Amino acid sequence: MSAFELFLYIALAILAQIGIFAAIAFFRHWTAYVALRGRLSELGEVDLSSTVSPAKAGTDAPVWSGFRDFRVTRKVFEDDGRAVCSFYIKPVDDSPLPAFKPGQFLTFRLDVVDPVTGKPAPVIRCYSLSTGPGLDHYRISVKRATAPADVPGAPPGLSSNHLHDNVREGDILAVRAPSGHFHLEPGNAPIVLIAGGIGVTPILSILEATLARGETRAVWVFYGVRNGSDHAMKDHMQNLAGAHSNVHLHVCYSRPRPGERLGNDYHHHGHVDIALLRMTLPLAPYQFYVCGPRGMMESLIPALGEWGVAESAIHYEAFGPASLPQVGAARRPPAPPTAEPSATTLNVTFALSEKTLTWDGRDSSLLEFAEANGIRVDSGCRAGACGACETEIEDGEVVYDNPPDHHPQSGRCLLCMSRPARDLTLRA
Ligand SMILES: Cc1cc2nc3c(=O)[nH]c(=O)nc-3n(C[C@H](O)[C@H](O)[C@H](O)COP(=O)(O)OP(=O)(O)OC[C@H]3O[C@@H](n4cnc5c(N)ncnc54)[C@H](O)[C@@H]3O)c2cc1C
Repeated sequence: MSAFELFLYIALAILAQIGIFAAIAFFRHWTAYVALRGRLSELGEVDLSSTVSPAKAGTDAPVWSGFRDFRVTRKVFEDDGRAVCSFYIKPVDDSPLPAFKPGQFLTFRLDVVDPVTGKPAPVIRCYSLSTGPGLDHYRISVKRATAPADVPGAPPGLSSNHLHDNVREGDILAVRAPSGHFHLEPGNAPIVLIAGGIGVTPILSILEATLARGETRAVWVFYGVRNGSDHAMKDHMQNLAGAHSNVHLHVCYSRPRPGERLGNDYHHHGHVDIALLRMTLPLAPYQFYVCGPRGMMESLIPALGEWGVAESAIHYEAFGPASLPQVGAARRPPAPPTAEPSATTLNVTFALSEKTLTWDGRDSSLLEFAEANGIRVDSGCRAGACGACETEIEDGEVVYDNPPDHHPQSGRCLLCMSRPARDLTLRA
């Protein structure tokens, strides 16, 4: 046998071994996957509302409409840097609280002193519920929004700073009932919860809800923060993971402080990204829930799709006002017409601002259109759920691309979700 033939035989033997190992590995993953799917279909879909104990406070109480008075019963800081503060609130009338779906948010109307006029003015903002349902109180956890360093003279965030600095235990807040599309869906599939920064609030609510029901399905939690100074709910989440073997907690610090130790204070150095998920998660038909800052959403949501996760298995919410449409766009194929004006233009009159402007179809909503033209309008969730941008239509009609959660009264519209159908006059 020649040296070349010997080399050929050895190379073929190595290749055959690699092939056998790959086939065995694939077969093992595949059988685990098929077994899990079989178990899920045997279990069937579970109605979440029926799994929250009805004996717990107020779960079947009616949902209220409009704003209701709540008293702040506790105020607690949740991180070393005291940038995240939780507010425990109970209804002033002491009647029971309706249940909510873990992941949903409350809408607040706050009287905040306007830094320009120096006078109090109503400000509407949404804050996610940061506990599981079934308690005799609600809780929100608010991060102080500081002024951006690169915009000299910009004021700090109105509502978050007001809540941190001026709202005390015993104070009364006006609150709309829980709402929102981002919540734990029925089913028993293993879940992956991904939070960036203050996006941890709805994620924690979902985590607590699954544990309160005694569920044993796998729950993977990936939580990205800069370092220990803004690592909110640190002990609480560690305790939950320590007490439940089905909870796998992975905390990522992108910029650890000197003295913070990998493996002790945090599990990974860097951001929560697709490489980490691929490296960590065993093969299973997961449902993904993602809430974080714009950068995280814009990279992670499309990356999950590219990894092969079905769109129906990715649930997400972005807190930043500008994030929602852009994240949505990142998941859709590029749409060339968006940058082009439409063939027909319409007149939109903002009666209170005494402005008539030309709508050429470039803006995705009347809210964006108003803001782009310097018209001040209220807004909250920017996703048709909170009703903060509900505005009277004096003349004309609007259309919605998707039906909003919040139904505006007759003769009114939600600016964040609608476009003009013909010439329009709004009382704004
Ligand atoms: C569904 C939903 C759930 C949410 N849940 C939570 C939650 O659980 N916890 C939480 O903390 N937040 C949450 N948010 C975000 C929250 O609603 C507010 O957007 C956030 O608190 C900031 O509001 P603000 O009034 O303090 O800041 P804003 O007054 O709205 O200002 C926002 C930022 O802009 C800056 N700014 C203001 N004026 C200028 C200017 N002229 N130029 C440049 N920059 C400027 C401010 O300094 C601030 O940093 C949620 C949002 C949504 C939509």
